[in-house]
Amino acid sequence: MTARRCPAAHFEDPTPCDGPPVVTVLDAQNAGADGCEHHGARLLASLEGGRVYALPDAPAGAAIRVFKAAAGIRPFPWMTEAPRTEPSQLSHAENRRAQLPVYGPTEPLGDEEHTPDVVVRVDFLMSREQITTALGIAWAEMAGDRDPESLTVREVRHEVEAYLSVQAFHELDAQMDRDRQRTFPPAQQAVMQLLADALERAYPPRRAPAAVQEPRYGEGTVTLTTLDRGEITIPEPEWCTGHEGQLVGPLAEVSHDGPHMTATVESQDVGPVPLIRANLTHAPYLVQQPEPHPLAYVEGLEAASFDAAGLRALVTAGRTYLDRLEAMADQLDDLAEEGPQ
Ligand SMILES: [Zn+2]
Ligand SMILES: [Zn+2]
Repeated sequence: MTARRCPAAHFEDPTPCDGPPVVTVLDAQNAGADGCEHHGARLLASLEGGRVYALPDAPAGAAIRVFKAAAGIRPFPWMTEAPRTEPSQLSHAENRRAQLPVYGPTEPLGDEEHTPDVVVRVDFLMSREQITTALGIAWAEMAGDRDPESLTVREVRHEVEAYLSVQAFHELDAQMDRDRQRTFPPAQQAVMQLLADALERAYPPRRAPAAVQEPRYGEGTVTLTTLDRGEITIPEPEWCTGHEGQLVGPLAEVSHDGPHMTATVESQDVGPVPLIRANLTHAPYLVQQPEPHPLAYVEGLEAASFDAAGLRALVTAGRTYLDRLEAMADQLDDLAEEGPQ
């Protein structure tokens, strides 16, 4: 069942009305539609040169609310897949913002009591009156031994930014003091744990760069480092070319790789190109798609052009290679019969 919606609701817009029609939205040609505040704003945001008027019995401020809401809404907001890069695809507020000059950050701001773990960047959208007031407060707190004309550009920006950050840090300190003096009931502790998890996702700590394997080989074994099991010693198949230079990962990603077998052909335009390459491979600890036995990894042709002679050479190389692949298939059979090492 579809509830009847206001005339301003676009037929592709799935959202419901937020009340009765209270405004008329007119386009540049004075064609109009009455709408609820929600659809009025979405329609106004989608028009170029549109206007909004309150209907006679509308509650106070309806037109202003629709006008303000529309500024922050992207044109045709129900088209969620549409690209949003051109000015005509962005909201009026976003377009206005893109025109604003940007200054700072001058330098990172912190307080002395806390060791920083992350850098949090905030862009403040500020009016001239607001930055003037911020500098005025900072100036009043400076020792009176400075002449305003002696302030450098960098100092002025630092003072404005520092004023904003001092306010935030002061509020945080006060709250942290209050929190330390409280004991939280279990229900609230559970919520705080969930918040901590959300924070971990939003502000993950810097990851250590991936370590490189330094394998040690024994009698038919290799000792490797894994992220989840620490150091492990596992059977090392004879055909494995070794694990030097591989990145340390979880056990499941440990993979033995045989030597690369490549058919190279001479092409007209780019010279020698690998036609096909293959190697034995075995990731014995994969969980998702287990590999009980070794497999042949095969990678295909790179783009190149061939003349008739070149193409015949390619066919010859290909036939020889197919024989070698057949031999590799026999080898796979043998390895599977031997069973897991
Ligand atoms: Zn509506
Ligand atoms: Zn190996």
